[in-house]
Amino acid sequence: MIPLIEPALDGNESHYLQECIASGYVSSVGPFVERFERQFAEAVGARHAVACSSGTAALHVALRVAGAAPGQLVAVSDFTFIASVNAISYTGADALLVDSESTTWNMDTERLHDDVVRRARDGEQIPAVIEVVHVLGHPAQLEPLLDLRDRFGITIVEDAAESLGASWSAGQLAGRQVGTAGDIGCFSFNGNKIMTSGGGGMITTDDADLAARARHLTTQAKLATGHYVHDTVGYNYRLSNLAAAVGQAQLERLDAFLDAKRAIAERYDDWLWPLPLTPAPAASWADPSYWLYSVLLDDEPVDVDHVVVALAELDVQARRLWPPIHRQAPYRSAERLGGRTAEHIYRNGLSLPSSVSITPDEQLTVVNALTKTLSDASFRR
Ligand SMILES: *Cc1c(COP(=O)(O)O)cnc(C)c1O
Repeated sequence: MIPLIEPALDGNESHYLQECIASGYVSSVGPFVERFERQFAEAVGARHAVACSSGTAALHVALRVAGAAPGQLVAVSDFTFIASVNAISYTGADALLVDSESTTWNMDTERLHDDVVRRARDGEQIPAVIEVVHVLGHPAQLEPLLDLRDRFGITIVEDAAESLGASWSAGQLAGRQVGTAGDIGCFSFNGNKIMTSGGGGMITTDDADLAARARHLTTQAKLATGHYVHDTVGYNYRLSNLAAAVGQAQLERLDAFLDAKRAIAERYDDWLWPLPLTPAPAASWADPSYWLYSVLLDDEPVDVDHVVVALAELDVQARRLWPPIHRQAPYRSAERLGGRTAEHIYRNGLSLPSSVSITPDEQLTVVNALTKTLSDASFRR
């Protein structure tokens, strides 16, 4: 079976883990945590980085320091992994689900912009925070949100869990990496992400005060002075030194991972074009990192569930994309702006094997299997 996505752990991972064990530093204090934070901040171009026990924990803390709280509204992408939205619920705030644009599959930020301006004019509640998700390795259009920040003081949190290394290549943000353009960025090092620490996350920001408040919340809000004195409800969200050791080893190979992802995408683009599908998004103003190469099958040909099963029979592991958040039980009554594009992406979307270690031969196997499956009339809807 050609797996959908699996990590490459053949760098310094075991060497650094041995170092942790030999030194006795295995928990949330240790040299790897600090080193990982410093070098990660440098790699993405942020001033500060705070390591967390997961991407979801990073989002929870980032949203809280950004001002998400009971009674507040947080705008978020409708088409995303549910962790993006659960983190809003943890703060007690309400989610406003915003549909995708069809070009990048990311939040339709123009639409949100117009809606916020209208809400302000009509005296309706406006979001305190906008959590924009860069899905599947492609940056979202941020300019409309930066305008909202300037006009209404809305804080921008970027969920960059899937898009480490992606950047804008034109416009106001040209040269900036995702996770560094809003007020706070969040990343995930889960096993399936661009790089892994076995489980972990990172908060990035240029704002020293936000970084300090985030760090404080991840360490049980314990004050540096006094004995077990805590000034608010904090969390045990620090990354362990063991996890940071793996993260550090992976970070050393991040450039190679990103090169591999882009080469994989280029080959899929070259080989898939004759098929009845739309290839992975790549806007002219973006340099995507292609975390998980995903396509939209044309409307008519086939039922995507059947395609996944048929590909599995040909030893290719593919997977459908997420149902829109507005379909998930906890969020069925959430406020939303549109949702039809998210529905369409869900209905027709298919992710293809994208491990950094996949070979061109294996990619050909994937393409041939997909060609065979899509030409088989029995899969038609
Ligand atoms: C993976 C992911 C998260 C959560 O990260 P974890 O490390 O698994 O907690 C959040 N948002 C998005 C978009 C993700 O893909």
